[in-house]
Amino acid sequence: MQTFKSLGLSAPVLEALAAEGYTTPTPIQAKAMPHVLAGRDLFGCAQTGTGKTAAFALPLIERLMADRRDVQPHRCRVLVLAPTRELASQIHDSFRAYGKHAKLRSAVIYGGVNQKPQAAAMQRGVDVLVATPGRLLDLIQQRLVDIRAVEFLVLDEADRMLDMGFIHDVRKIVSQVPKKRQTLFFSATLPAEVRQLAETMLRDPLEVKTAPQATPAETVDQSVFLLPQKQKKHLLVHLLKHEGMARVIVFTRTKHGANKLQRDLEKAGIRAAAIHGNKSQNQRELALSSFKSQRPPVLIATDIAARGIDVDQVTHVVNFELPHEPETYVHRIGRTGRAGFTGVALSFCDREERPRLAAIERLLRKQIPERTDLPADLPKADDAEERGPRRPASHAGSRGERGRPSRTKPAKGRRSKGKPRGEKRATAAAPAAAPAAGSKPRGPKKYRRAL
Ligand code: AMP
Repeated sequence: MQTFKSLGLSAPVLEALAAEGYTTPTPIQAKAMPHVLAGRDLFGCAQTGTGKTAAFALPLIERLMADRRDVQPHRCRVLVLAPTRELASQIHDSFRAYGKHAKLRSAVIYGGVNQKPQAAAMQRGVDVLVATPGRLLDLIQQRLVDIRAVEFLVLDEADRMLDMGFIHDVRKIVSQVPKKRQTLFFSATLPAEVRQLAETMLRDPLEVKTAPQATPAETVDQSVFLLPQKQKKHLLVHLLKHEGMARVIVFTRTKHGANKLQRDLEKAGIRAAAIHGNKSQNQRELALSSFKSQRPPVLIATDIAARGIDVDQVTHVVNFELPHEPETYVHRIGRTGRAGFTGVALSFCDREERPRLAAIERLLRKQIPERTDLPADLPKADDAEERGPRRPASHAGSRGERGRPSRTKPAKGRRSKGKPRGEKRATAAAPAAAPAAGSKPRGPKKYRRAL
């Protein structure tokens, strides 16, 4: 079996890893590190929680140490681009932790906060700069950062960067770094735009895939409750009180929904922090750090704010509402079950959300087991909101595998002619059948403002 030592890491880095409690390399680390050390470009398809940050940070620290150079003012040798502030600061923290005996200088740059400390950190130049694209371009334009001496360029969560509309910023940045460089490119999913971007940036890259595209970590135990919207908060309170949830992230779809749920939980005597795009950077950092120290143990988050959050030992993820895009479900549940720990993902699904559940199950190629042990004291559902059967007999994941699945015939007149079959059709008035095999249940792959 490979060890960090046999992969070529030196004593200062090994010592830092021992302090972090890492004993064995994860698969992506074992696959990628020797090639990054040898100077090769990398195209990595990796889920969250696979250890990909260390897979690029460790060999880059080694490369920097092996060839120490004085850095000019405002310049950096390694540039890491990340989509969100949270992810950028986590990557920066990782470089600092892994490189604590390596005597390297580093800085992190992101928007939403005063730029002065960031500009000051860049004044003497750094070995490693981690940045989000927008603020980085701002500082470059003001001549406070200079990326013309970059030797190593890393793009992390490239798919997220494209989803969030950073493509032009990323291209602009890439056009300013030297052509002669080593480039490492990571993405959890590989849509065509990501591949195209990668092709323009990489030279003869080694492709490393750690898991089939969008497969959630096998260490996450998933289940779904089918219940009306109005019962969801009561179920959540019940679960928080009775299921031994030590550290929970609850996902809502909107900022408003996150605030409301926080108030509802507090009314029920449960303290929770909330993190979403309307909160200031300071509030977000405070929420995150208090959650990390388990005071409170519940974090309510929207998807954008939660992207890349790396908190050790999140025991449960609750999907209070199912996301529009099935891939987002995979990202969400990847917040738990990380680095060898097991995790639990519970999803709450009302009638309107059933097509989303079917889309998720198609992506996963399996049915998520249903939990029917609802507490007895939930408020009564309206007639139209009754749970109803989960779906016709078809198995959402059986598309094309065993011929056409058997399907109960939908009652006549439930679908008006000419209207597309989509989420709006699956209202409480009509049973939410899983969309026909081969139909496209997904919405546009764009970053949604409402988040
Ligand atoms: P990442 O996929 O980079 O977000 O890493 C996920 C989590 O795994 C982080 O909390 C890391 O600290 C942790 N981690 C990374 N590599 C290892 C390793 N080899 N052994 C144990 N934990 C690790």
